[in-house]
Amino acid sequence: MTKILVIEDDPSIAELVALSLGTVGFEVAAAPTAALGLASLEGVALAILDLGLPDAPGLRLVPAIRAEGIPVLILSARDSLMDKVGGLDAGAEDYITKPFEALELIARVRAILRRHSRDERRLCVAGIDIDIEGRIVRVGGIGIDLTRREFDLLLSLAEHKGIALSRDRLLALAWGYEASCETRTVDVHVQRLREKLGTEAIRTVPGIGYRLEG
Ligand code: CA
Repeated sequence: MTKILVIEDDPSIAELVALSLGTVGFEVAAAPTAALGLASLEGVALAILDLGLPDAPGLRLVPAIRAEGIPVLILSARDSLMDKVGGLDAGAEDYITKPFEALELIARVRAILRRHSRDERRLCVAGIDIDIEGRIVRVGGIGIDLTRREFDLLLSLAEHKGIALSRDRLLALAWGYEASCETRTVDVHVQRLREKLGTEAIRTVPGIGYRLEG
């Protein structure tokens, strides 16, 4: 299990982060101070760091965490450009401001891990093996030919495994800025994906959209 460390003194935020990332299968440990954070880096794949910690400025921890080969995602209420630039200049991989959206946090955490770990370039959900770099999909070891959109849609669902995504959200994720099409397009593509993959793992969520069960 991929372990993520949250260095955050506000227990409600630490809990929200743990809950958000826990639902998609990450193991989350929490450290309420800079000192405890630095003492808890063993086996950690990613550190989520608050800037306002009681015993030291969070920014000062970035080089020490990076020195352990662990990427840092800053999660801070400070939303000025200077803070963001300062955080990224200090070596953080990404910067999210509070209050945060769970879906965005998950997506950004996964994006960082993908960049940092070869293993994360492969996703295996519900027996569907997705090679993200190679854009190859296999079920039971057999390659499945998908169109570009079908692949992007499957990847969006897989990266949000267990989460109900609205048709609009799926359009934004898989079609991006080209999305001038109707939400019904999503239904058509989901239907094709189900047929090609021979899976019932893509569930319809009534009144919302779809969810990939892992
Ligand atoms: Ca704080």
